[in-house]
Amino acid sequence: MDSLASAPILVSCRAHKFGGSSMADAGCIRRVANLLLADPCPRQIVITSAMQGTTDALVALGRAATAGADWATGLHAIRRRHLETAQALLQQPEPAQARIDALCDELSDLLRAAALLRQPGPTALARIHGMGELLSTGLLNAHLRERGADYALLDAREVLRVRHTELGAVVDHAASAALLFDWRTRNPQPRVNVTGFIASDEAGLPTTLGRNGSDYSAAIFAGLFEADELNIWSDVDGVLSADPRLVPEAVTLPTMSYSEACELAYFGAKVIHPQALAPAIARGLPIRMRNTFAPDQPGTRIDACGDPSGAGPVKGLTLNHDLALVCLEGAGLIGVPGTAERTFGALRAVGASVVMISQGSSEHSICCVVHAEQAQAARAALAAAFDRELAGGQVHGVTACTGISVLAAVGDGMAGTPGVAARLFDALARAQVNVRAIAQGASERNISVAMSAEDATRALRAVHAAFWLSPQTIALAVIGPGKVGAALLDQLEAAMPRLRRDANVDLRLRALATRSRLWTIEHGDGSGWRARMQSEPEPADLDAIAPHLHATHLPHKVILDCSASDAVASRYPHWLAAGIHVITPNKQAGAGPLERYRGIRAACAHSGARFRYEATVCAGLPVISTLRDLLDTGDALIAIDGIFSGTLAWLFNKFDGSQPFSELVRQAHALGYTEPDPRDDLSGTDVARKLVILAREAGMTLSLDDVQVQSLVPEELRSADREAFMAGLEALDAPMREALKQARAQDSVLRYIARLDQSGHASVALQAVPTDHAFAHLRLTDNCVSFTTRRYRDNPLVVQGPGAGPDVTAAGVFSDLLRLAAALGARL
Ligand code: ADP
Ligand code: ASP
Ligand code: MG
Repeated sequence: MDSLASAPILVSCRAHKFGGSSMADAGCIRRVANLLLADPCPRQIVITSAMQGTTDALVALGRAATAGADWATGLHAIRRRHLETAQALLQQPEPAQARIDALCDELSDLLRAAALLRQPGPTALARIHGMGELLSTGLLNAHLRERGADYALLDAREVLRVRHTELGAVVDHAASAALLFDWRTRNPQPRVNVTGFIASDEAGLPTTLGRNGSDYSAAIFAGLFEADELNIWSDVDGVLSADPRLVPEAVTLPTMSYSEACELAYFGAKVIHPQALAPAIARGLPIRMRNTFAPDQPGTRIDACGDPSGAGPVKGLTLNHDLALVCLEGAGLIGVPGTAERTFGALRAVGASVVMISQGSSEHSICCVVHAEQAQAARAALAAAFDRELAGGQVHGVTACTGISVLAAVGDGMAGTPGVAARLFDALARAQVNVRAIAQGASERNISVAMSAEDATRALRAVHAAFWLSPQTIALAVIGPGKVGAALLDQLEAAMPRLRRDANVDLRLRALATRSRLWTIEHGDGSGWRARMQSEPEPADLDAIAPHLHATHLPHKVILDCSASDAVASRYPHWLAAGIHVITPNKQAGAGPLERYRGIRAACAHSGARFRYEATVCAGLPVISTLRDLLDTGDALIAIDGIFSGTLAWLFNKFDGSQPFSELVRQAHALGYTEPDPRDDLSGTDVARKLVILAREAGMTLSLDDVQVQSLVPEELRSADREAFMAGLEALDAPMREALKQARAQDSVLRYIARLDQSGHASVALQAVPTDHAFAHLRLTDNCVSFTTRRYRDNPLVVQGPGAGPDVTAAGVFSDLLRLAAALGARL
């Protein structure tokens, strides 16, 4: 066999471990076989777990039988699942099915015995729990053999001898190596299937390596067979920076050191069993964590050097749950030698394992984190150990508080990097997490923080964001994906990769919503939003958006309201107060009730969130930003004049008397230039709203009622229904013909003009303007806004161009978003 000391360049024996998720059904097992058969390495040791969920089911069956409850139904399900898998997987399933039946009959006997005894011993339970690995490994072996590959099948109990200690199962190497040697004489094949999880004890009786122990089995067998590399295959791309089920933004780590992996595993990262690392470290065996379902991904390499370049100070975050904080407090502890020894001696005596210790340097208190089920015993033990001090008042009390979780940040790079703790605690503070106790190991490879369990996920996400995300990571929710919303989403989708690459702006689309429906997205890079909206929405409404945006603790949150809804606008003060920025083309807030508008401004001032609405006036044209720039640089407004409605601009550009006005309205309606009800344009209200928005921007307290509006809708048609209005359009023709005639007489043209002057007088009306006026030369649906100011008194500053349509409106919203990102520090 190869010696690892000679550091093989070509791997000559490779160990592979497949977890339950990789063995979940016939398709999965076939995929596993494909991977194995594609591996050119001649010698292979393949360690497999039970089919996903089987061990849980077996543990439950053991409990049910012991409790005298029904176990037959569960056993039947296990038998059927394996028989059906054999049927689907194998061309000739009968021999494998006979083996499954035999194993299930044995399981049945064991369960019946457990039900009779009501107190099955550890061997019987181990036989019950370990049945899943015997069943699954047999299926894979039969399938590989059917495909012409000669794999030996090793029941790990035949060779693996372990001793159970306080530190878990310890391998008896000499005995195991001797038994393996013996087994090898009978089974010399270069490729072997081995059952994970199970072993035998010193007496040769069945036992297990503990839950999730197959990783440990794999590392042990990789050692016994002298493999050069161990691949642990699961359903994620490797070791991630945090549990991906809790932190959707978690990233795959390309490399990590054994010590980092140890810390992560011991502190609860489920991805690898903590004991699996020791055998690998002992032999310098590199471990690769890989994804069965994405084998082309490089995965994570765990070895002695880890990542020498040190990508970041913190490598991974984990959470440990179901813990309790036991504290001993009292002024009498100060400076008293031996307190710690007595504390830990007492805990040791009741078998409470200490997850974390924290003692302030004043020695006024000692806090330990223990497993919740040991909390009362630990508290009682401490109270007994310090009974004299309690009676004498030197110790005030011993408390035990359950419902504690510990968050651990792990990384070799933390040693000697100042500021890591500051960043971590800053993130916790911003997420309003109350820290109960802190510990940092002297190795500086781990900082652990105890907190209330209900804060734990929030804390994890907040800390993850602080260490892994660009400071310009922005969570987005888009409301009302109609025409403008759809155009915006398409623009975002196209721009996201470039923004991420060039400007360090990381936009994450987290939610799509209408007024009553919500589609949430976990990994939103903007792609596939249409498909997401085809799926069933969640039973949630507008009020669910903010909690969903807050849930991931991305550094910034923005709601893009592309609806025209007043109900949505009424939520802005609440969202802004909660620190969520709002960007919108919806005019309801900007031109709506003054009270609400003031509430919005107050919320912004209070929370620092921004409200942007460039696209509410003339779509993407830079009208509001121009006005702001003028005012912010000290200019003074004299007047704003303009043509703010693309629809009305088009109608009056076309209206030369050759066709009746009603005919043009019908054409505009058919071309989609008008609102569904053209009265919304013809009434002038929409234009008046824009004027209110500009007036307020200029610091005036104007409301819609203050604007003098000349409606083009004849009195008698104002309250008619839409059909009746469209049918009665001809009523517009005579007054319009007359207005045109009068304008022509003065060598003028008709334009629908909005005007605001410095005294706050605002009006929108049909006017005759001379043919040489700027407003007379607009094209199609162009808008035009003319700013007369102290600096631009004689020759006004004019902003002109297309002022309507989904694409340009969406672009206006998008540019607001980018301006916001720039204000947040993006290199734009
Ligand atoms: P297997 O069935 O392959 O043994 P497990 O369910 O035991 O798989 O472990 C893999 C799971 O561990 C992943 O699906 C993932 O949800 C979870 N997990 C928790 N923490 C991490 C982490 N830091 N990196 C990767 N996966 C993690
Ligand atoms: N099947 C065992 C369990 O679920 C061992 C493992 O999968 O690692 O605990
Ligand atoms: Mg596992």
